[in-house]
Amino acid sequence: MVARSGPGWQGPDWKQDLRQAFTRPADLRAFLGLPAAVANADSGFGFRMRVPRCYAALMEPGNPQDPLLRQVLPQAAEAEVHPGFSPDPVGDAAATLAPGLLQKYRGRALLVTTPACAIHCRYCFRRHYPYGKGALGSDGGAAAIAAIAADPGLREVILSGGDPLMRDDADLAELMEALAAIPQVERLRIHTRLPVVLPSRVTPALCRVLGGTRLPVVVVIHANHPRELGEAAGAALGRLRQTGATLLNQSVLLRGVNDDPATLADLSETLFRQGVMPYYLHLLDRVAGAAHFEVGEAQGLDLMGALRLRLPGYLVPRLVREVAGAGSKTAIA
Ligand SMILES: *Cc1c(COP(=O)(O)O)cnc(C)c1O
Ligand code: SF4
Repeated sequence: MVARSGPGWQGPDWKQDLRQAFTRPADLRAFLGLPAAVANADSGFGFRMRVPRCYAALMEPGNPQDPLLRQVLPQAAEAEVHPGFSPDPVGDAAATLAPGLLQKYRGRALLVTTPACAIHCRYCFRRHYPYGKGALGSDGGAAAIAAIAADPGLREVILSGGDPLMRDDADLAELMEALAAIPQVERLRIHTRLPVVLPSRVTPALCRVLGGTRLPVVVVIHANHPRELGEAAGAALGRLRQTGATLLNQSVLLRGVNDDPATLADLSETLFRQGVMPYYLHLLDRVAGAAHFEVGEAQGLDLMGALRLRLPGYLVPRLVREVAGAGSKTAIA
């Protein structure tokens, strides 16, 4: 047995964990002991199921309504057409400056570093994103880096995707070096769900890369339910914190997953225990195929009122919505 901690520890093989992820609903169903009727949307409606085994292990066996399962299991409802739900609800196409580079807000720009994710969240607002055209291209992002360098007003670059931590350490180090060489860039932000859904990704080698830049690093993770933050995620977040990074969390308010005050309060308190501050709670982006996850604005406001009665102010996330064309996320409460 190889020790899973200590100075010589290089971490389990995250790429192997990735390869072993569930991609067929029938396999996940068998793993959880669920009846056949629960998982029969094999095609995934053009967005294939993907669930790491360590994430599936956090689900409650035999419960077809499990809030973690609900986030990842393809549902027949995804094929329904609903007015107001579209392929590009947040206006990504209009905000594209160079291949893989989006800018919507003053002072910060976002790099779509890769189309890949370790998990496929059924409500993902980029589930229809044209990654073939819109991710950093075969030039390794040279055009995007040049565009960032040419804008003296850019203070912060956000690595997004897909999930930026799906890229190799060497690849990430190279990208971070290129960004650190641009004098006006003061902060680097990384939007990633991997510390939660594939904690083995947070290896000592990755931590050395993140700790080895002149740029202060902000890591914004994505957890929606307290049960996603098990022991392995907690340890991964601890390792990230050791790099000096600031850790924040964003969640999506999802029907049947976290649309009650007890769950949201537990999420905030669990995050804090693991060294992460709540940042945003997003109203669902109205992406085609995700209507069954929507929680209305009025209910969102009620939930926020209930949260404020339970939590210290610093553990209450900001409820926001992304409005295409707006100059910032739009605050709801
Ligand atoms: C959400 C988003 C950001 C970050 O917004 P903050 O309010 O700073 O967290 C930046 N760029 C794009 C394109 C975004 O969608
Ligand atoms: S991790 Fe983020 S980008 Fe990837 S599928 Fe989930 S919501 Fe979408």
